[in-house]
Amino acid sequence: MRIFLNKKIVPEPEAVVSVYDHGFLYGDGIYETMRAYNGVVFMLDKHLERLGRSASLTKLDIPETGFIKDAVSMTMEANKLSDAYIRVTVSRGKGAIGLDPALCKEPTFVVIAEHFKKYPEHLYSSGVKLVIAKTRRNLVFAINPKIKSLNFLNNIFAKMEAKERGAYEAIMLNAEGLIAEGTVSNIFFVKDNVLCTPAPEVGALDGITREVVINLAKKNGVKVSEGEYYPDDLFNASEVFFTNTTSEIMPVSQVELIDYKVGDVTKSLHMLYKEEVSAYIKNYRGN
Ligand code: PMP
Repeated sequence: MRIFLNKKIVPEPEAVVSVYDHGFLYGDGIYETMRAYNGVVFMLDKHLERLGRSASLTKLDIPETGFIKDAVSMTMEANKLSDAYIRVTVSRGKGAIGLDPALCKEPTFVVIAEHFKKYPEHLYSSGVKLVIAKTRRNLVFAINPKIKSLNFLNNIFAKMEAKERGAYEAIMLNAEGLIAEGTVSNIFFVKDNVLCTPAPEVGALDGITREVVINLAKKNGVKVSEGEYYPDDLFNASEVFFTNTTSEIMPVSQVELIDYKVGDVTKSLHMLYKEEVSAYIKNYRGN
């Protein structure tokens, strides 16, 4: 693999970062995960906008958008990729030990792009098991989940719980017990023919896939409600799924002791999502 590190493409063994990097020492940094279909990065501008927001909320200087876009396409080309997983990471950079960001002169900028390995089809046809983690999502007034930061220990704890309990993903509640989000995903459920999802203000990342799904649902006559939900709302739902950039729409077959079928709303939204991706690629190539 070839990696974009700071200003240029280097072979993976040379893509090394200092042990004094504050990303390594303190988790001081931000990132984005993107997915390319047929050589086109889906919703690239939205991802870079969100990276910009994470940067300003952490007071981190990041390279200009044009530079990041060039770095992403250079990394894709260097690895001859078409369907790709792309990760852009920016850390505070190398500096003396101490929390003060002023100790770091320049941020460290990395783009990793790998061939996208599709998730097994049976996950989509049968759905996956979720549990509700004991670990609560970070407080909005502590580390706002709106920031896609390298400080991921909160989600890692919940992921470990999921794994210990044989589940695919964990649902995290906020401090008040409201459903916030998954460890790497946004949660949706269908109740009384309404598509429900926690409002980002509850303490969730405003996922880009989430936004696409909400817009598709509205456009296709599905009522959408963004609000405050407790696990009981989920337990009384007819369908549950989660969303993220890499999985798109992943059906859920079980949350704790409750079983769900992979329902029509989930299936049709996933079909519409795939059509949206195709239209995006076509439109991008046409420009
Ligand atoms: N929440 C968290 C905590 C995440 O890490 C992700 C993945 N980026 C998401 C939600 C889903 O966001 P997106 O649809 O933009 O991938």
